Amino acid sequence: MKKWIVVLFIGVAFFTIIGKNFIGEDKHTFPNNEKDVRIIMKGTKYETKAYIIKGKEKGPTIFINGGIHGDEVAGFSTAEELLSYKLKKGKLIILPRANKVACEINKRTADFMEDLNRQFPGKKDGNDTEKIAFEITEFIKEMKPQILLDLHESRGNYREGRLGNSIIFTPKDGTAELVMTILERINANASEGNDFTFITNAPKGSINYETTNQLNIPVLTVETNRKLDLKVRIDQQLEIVEKIFEYYGVE
Ligand SMILES: [Zn+2]
Repeated sequence: MKKWIVVLFIGVAFFTIIGKNFIGEDKHTFPNNEKDVRIIMKGTKYETKAYIIKGKEKGPTIFINGGIHGDEVAGFSTAEELLSYKLKKGKLIILPRANKVACEINKRTADFMEDLNRQFPGKKDGNDTEKIAFEITEFIKEMKPQILLDLHESRGNYREGRLGNSIIFTPKDGTAELVMTILERINANASEGNDFTFITNAPKGSINYETTNQLNIPVLTVETNRKLDLKVRIDQQLEIVEKIFEYYGVE
């Protein structure tokens, strides 16, 4: 056999093996998730983007809401970090900055607005804050998620009478059982003093209370402690989100 034929033969064989592996790997990392964008409050100063990320395999839908309070930085930072999540199975709806104006000025809400997390389910012809709540509620209805995670922060740990290191839920149907299972998984790896507890008194008008009761969609409000470093808080929120992905079979 001529030398160049041997080289060509080895080359083809080599490329077939390696090339196949590359293609195989590509299929498993899904580098280009399909990502649709939806605009909430389009054409107003409150305009904010929601992202719909679809895995290649069908699966449950999880809605992640951040920035409903503009000074709870770990919440919207975590939601934004999740935008680059390489999703294989299921669907993520991410609204990182529900109250974009408040996030921009790093305040719970703007002086000319109400507290967005007391205006749910909102009003179509209400004041500006009620309109934002209304549009978000309509969007949730349309997306029909299995669960909604609302990412927040508090000024201290629950042991100090604050909300930090807690998951808030509204008792209805199986929500208590769900939260207990999730908490067990989170606390299995928690370092001392960093465990999470549950709280059940989500206020009327909050996305938690109203979405659970009116839309029958369980909402878990995740509260981290602002006294900790931002990096620690974001990591805690990401870990909780991942545990919930695991529970629902989102990959
Ligand atoms: Zn909050």
